[in-house]
Amino acid sequence: MKILVINCGSSSLKYQLIDMDNESVVAKGLCERIGIEGSMLTHKAAGKEDYVVEKAMPTHVTAIEMVMEALQDATYGVIKDTSEIAAVGHRVLHAGTVYSDSIIVNEDVKRVIKECFDLGPLHNPANLMGIEACEKAMPGTPNIAVWDTGFGMKMPEKAYLYAIPYEYFEKYSLRRYGFHGTSHMFVSGEALKFANLDPGKGKVIVCHLGNGSSISASIGGKCVDTSMGLTPLEGLIMGTRSGDVDAAVVQYICNKENKDVNEVLNILNKKSGVLGISGVSSDFRDLGKAADEGNERAKTALDAFVYRVAKYIGAYAAALNGVDAIAFTAGVGENDMKARKDICSYLGYLGVEIDDEANNCRGKRQMISTPDSKVKVMVLPTNEELAIARETLRLVQ
Ligand code: AMP
Repeated sequence: MKILVINCGSSSLKYQLIDMDNESVVAKGLCERIGIEGSMLTHKAAGKEDYVVEKAMPTHVTAIEMVMEALQDATYGVIKDTSEIAAVGHRVLHAGTVYSDSIIVNEDVKRVIKECFDLGPLHNPANLMGIEACEKAMPGTPNIAVWDTGFGMKMPEKAYLYAIPYEYFEKYSLRRYGFHGTSHMFVSGEALKFANLDPGKGKVIVCHLGNGSSISASIGGKCVDTSMGLTPLEGLIMGTRSGDVDAAVVQYICNKENKDVNEVLNILNKKSGVLGISGVSSDFRDLGKAADEGNERAKTALDAFVYRVAKYIGAYAAALNGVDAIAFTAGVGENDMKARKDICSYLGYLGVEIDDEANNCRGKRQMISTPDSKVKVMVLPTNEELAIARETLRLVQ
């Protein structure tokens, strides 16, 4: 059975066609610059040359039409017609407090996605367009919504409530949601298996460290806490996001720099994080290079990043009352052995011991702790598309 996975951003659309008989990727691709001049589709099918189409894509509807054409193309395609696609799984950012479990899309699901536009102003409108475009292109084929907030929605009240007047939670569902949900769901589930832990009781901390970074604590794959909040701004220091700051910082910058709240929020989202501290780059490879060349602010940015992750691991080990496994994932987590080593150097008190030779790895599933380490530490590449495809299969079977 083949499942199409769609991930719509505000001006992009990523897709993967996955054969669920062996969980292999049959084809994948990316539509870029949707609604902007210079849009193009890049399509890659197993065993075939890459196929690039440069054509105007005014909306996500056009993008989906082009994806369908590419998938059925005589030379570069992989299916004869769209009836070979059993179902479509969509990554959808936000369902407020209404939905947390993945669900087959119906009119009510679309209404909720729409009602949550202000909680996910960049993603929810694009996600809805992607769903409606698939409904049009493949009438009768089920569409499944997999929520990026789904994992975090399982946090207990004490972890998701902000300590602000309760009426804001009641009136506006203003709470912590958490993001990167499909990644945390996938990696925590795989970590339980890889570390041979009790599937119902294993205590796992997942460090999703990339351009956007978040960390989660879970027991038996169920979220106990996660670092992103109402929006992805909260928590760890990221490429361009500040992570946790005293909210009074916003007022202070507004007053000193004569800016409004929206401008300061834009600074916290797009000009802060390791980019803000270093003034060099948001990219960890650039930062590593600059630090090696003696750039002190790049070094400080990396130190602050590592320290914040270690601080959260400490907090989450307390929240879980112990930890069985720590998994590193995403661009930095999977590739940056120095960051992993530096983070783990704070964790001796937990009995964490890293095997330097094993840690010398990139982008592959590997145990990096010594056999004697009290906590199993691993690199576990995330696969959000596969997580979405598995959820989709579960719902349509
Ligand atoms: P992501 O958002 O998960 O795609 O991660 C992107 C981040 O991963 C960027 O900051 C990259 O610099 C970083 N990254 C990718 N490969 C490496 C590497 N080999 N060493 C250090 N950082 C890396």
